[in-house]
Amino acid sequence: MQLYSQVTNLQAALQKEKKSGHKIAFIPTMGALHEGHLSLIALGKEHAHLSVCSIFVNPTQFNNAMDLQKYPRTMEQDTRLLEASGCDFLFAPSNDVIYPAGLDTEVHLDLGNLDLVMEGHFRPGHFKGMLQVVKRLLDIVHPDYLIMGQKDFQQFTLVAFMIRQLQLRVKLIVGPTLRERDGLAMSSRNQRLNAEERRKAVAIYQCLLKLKNKLSNTNSVVLEQNAMKYLEEAGLKPEYVEIVDGNSLQKVINPEKHDYIVACIAAWSGEVRLIDNLILKGGLN
Ligand code: AMP
Repeated sequence: MQLYSQVTNLQAALQKEKKSGHKIAFIPTMGALHEGHLSLIALGKEHAHLSVCSIFVNPTQFNNAMDLQKYPRTMEQDTRLLEASGCDFLFAPSNDVIYPAGLDTEVHLDLGNLDLVMEGHFRPGHFKGMLQVVKRLLDIVHPDYLIMGQKDFQQFTLVAFMIRQLQLRVKLIVGPTLRERDGLAMSSRNQRLNAEERRKAVAIYQCLLKLKNKLSNTNSVVLEQNAMKYLEEAGLKPEYVEIVDGNSLQKVINPEKHDYIVACIAAWSGEVRLIDNLILKGGLN
C-alpha cells in the first residue's frame, strides 16, 4: 500500500494508474477502522482495479467540540488493517492540506429539506461540513467510484444529491451495514462504550427490527412514539426515531403510498451518540 499525505504526490501516483486504464474506487473515512470500513474497501475492489482510502477526521462536520476531541484516532492500527485488506493507496492529509488558506472549499448548494431533518436537525451544520470534505476529496482523487456505507443513510443520500446537482463524474456505490454478532452496527464510536453501555446499545437494532415487523399494520407516528419508549426503557436516550421516505427523507404517514421506506434512529448510550437505520420497504436491500 502506498501512503500519501500531500495532494500533488497522490495525484501524480494516481495519474500513472489512470493512464494505464485503471479504474479507481475511493473510500473516504475518518479512521478508527473496523470491518465495516474494510468491507467497503473490498466492495471497491469488486468494481475497480484500485482502491484509495482516505483517513481524515474532518473538523468542519463536527458541531460538538468534545465529540471532535474524543473521536478515536488509531492511525498505526488503521494502516495495518488497510494493508492487510489489500487497499492500494492511503491518503492521510492534515487539516492544512484539505483546507489550505485562501481556497474556498465550501459547497454552495440548496439542499432543500434533506439536511434539515434527523441528523441535520440535531447536528446543525454537520452535512454542510460533510459535503465540503467529500467534494474536496473528490476534487483531489477524481475516482471512478465513490464507495459509502448504508450505515450513514442521510449522509449518502446527501452525497448522491450533490453528485446529481453538480453533475460530478463519479458513480456512488453504497455498501450494506456490517454488524456485530448481536446486531449492533459497527462504528468507530463503539470503542468508547463501556460494558454496560455496549450491552444497552443493542436495543437500537432490536428496535429497528420491531419497526420492520410492524410497519404494515400500525400507524407510523404511533410506531415512532412506541420505539422512543422502547429505547428509553432499554436505558438509552433516543434523540429521534423517524420512519421516512428513502428518497425525500420526509416522514411517512401512510406506508402504502411509498415504495422506499427507511427507519432511522439516533440514541445516546451513556456519553456516546449512535446512529443506525434499516430499510423497511423497497430500496437498497
Ligand atoms: P466514518 O469513518 O464513520 O466516517 O465512515 C466511513 C465510511 O464507512 C462511511 O461511508 C460509513 O457509512 C461507512 N461505515 C461506517 N460504519 C459502517 C458499517 N458498520 N458497515 C459498513 N459501512 C460503514
